[in-house]
Amino acid sequence: MTLHQNLIAGEWVGGDGVANINPSNTDDVVGEYARASAEDAKAAIAAAKAAFPAWSRSGILERHAILKKTADEILARKDELGRLLSREEGKTLAEGIGETVRAGQIFEFFAGETLRLAGEVVPSVRPGIGVEITREPAGVVGIITPWNFPIAIPAWKLAPALCYGNTIVFKPAELVPGCSWAIVDILHRAGLPKGVLNLVMGKGSVVGQAMLDSPDVQAITFTGSTATGKRVAVASVEHNRKYQLEMGGKNPFVVLDDADLSVAVEAAVNSAFFSTGQRCTASSRIIVTEGIHDRFVAAMGERIKGLVVDDALKPGTHIGPVVDQSQLNQDTDYIAIGKQEGAKLAFGGEVISRDTPGFYLQPALFTEATNEMRISREEIFGPVAAVIRVKDYDEALAVANDTPFGLSSGIATTSLKHATHFKRNAEAGMVMVNLPTAGVDFHVPFGGRKASSYGPREQGKYAAEFYTNVKTAYTLA
Ligand code: ADP
Repeated sequence: MTLHQNLIAGEWVGGDGVANINPSNTDDVVGEYARASAEDAKAAIAAAKAAFPAWSRSGILERHAILKKTADEILARKDELGRLLSREEGKTLAEGIGETVRAGQIFEFFAGETLRLAGEVVPSVRPGIGVEITREPAGVVGIITPWNFPIAIPAWKLAPALCYGNTIVFKPAELVPGCSWAIVDILHRAGLPKGVLNLVMGKGSVVGQAMLDSPDVQAITFTGSTATGKRVAVASVEHNRKYQLEMGGKNPFVVLDDADLSVAVEAAVNSAFFSTGQRCTASSRIIVTEGIHDRFVAAMGERIKGLVVDDALKPGTHIGPVVDQSQLNQDTDYIAIGKQEGAKLAFGGEVISRDTPGFYLQPALFTEATNEMRISREEIFGPVAAVIRVKDYDEALAVANDTPFGLSSGIATTSLKHATHFKRNAEAGMVMVNLPTAGVDFHVPFGGRKASSYGPREQGKYAAEFYTNVKTAYTLA
């Protein structure tokens, strides 16, 4: 089997490989991927540092061409890359292809942005002086990504980093190196100069940690767990570097008495269970007012029974496997905790077998849950959700906001008054009305508040805030 190597200073290097395993079929090895050492990470950082002066001053047409070529190749290969994604991560083929298209669109968006870079010229308060406000690249950027969006998250960090003239050390998640390797290969062949983009696949505690510990990494963008996010923050403060964190969520989805039942059920099922519940924007707290509660739970039950859990690549599968054994253990542990806490496991929650050995879990829905239970407070990151019964809208909003997290927040209602009030008062970075809590556009800001996120927003024009430093220059005319 060919070994997919790391890219350091424009060369493919590294010999020691690790198998990338398909969670739908653990007998299926997706590929062998090199494992970088701390020394490799240091070499990658040195290469990115050396490449920075030239790349930061590169022409916008050069950057545009590379990003556009990358977008075109990703979109042309969407079926193949989408399949690779589903094979290594376990989301369904439709979801894998959809995510790949989104990655292509992100590169297209930032290809366009390279041609729209601009500053501002403003008058000084002192006559005879001119003021220019410009954006300069942040420097060597460390990119650390999680396993749940193997192509979209790398794309939404790599594309703006390159667009604004930064050089990169990129460490993808151990479980899903395939899509990251493919994007780096495409960018490399599209003509990136040596050292501008370095790929170091490997362990977080080794390669990631070497990035955190390096004074030469001037900015780190991280998506992953709250615990690792805190390490990134502490190390970044130590080195006086910029950092941006996207971490957990415990997103509420409110269903009011006046909701359209089918809209509410579709949005709730999507939020809780699609992509196997492994989205930081997934909803695992479904807060339902008492007038619609029983009808909603019954309709959810019917809908859940119709969901096909199977091999991610099989046509007809709605929910693929959980990503690996340790995540499956976490999900089943929380199911046990929910039962112990007194919630009622109304549907699903069984570990099931299919034709191939994989990590299959029947989507689980608890009812009679309270917002104080651990299943309502801690991120589970699987197809496990709990219904919390409340009296009215005011209680629903209070429960929705009673969480340490603040990424996404959803509501199903036909009342303009409640929808408007919820949009204004939900303590979250993103609010969804009659839509699932997950499923966002690629050209508008993404991010949360409270314990979910730290730093400027990602995606769209707002990405410039993290990937550039603002300079204000004064000139006596
Ligand atoms: P998840 O539970 O989603 O795997 P993690 O926070 O463990 O969340 O992983 C997210 C990313 O952070 C992965 O690429 C992982 O390798 C990396 N990571 C883990 N530990 C560290 C660390 N000590 N320093 C830097 N990166 C790390």
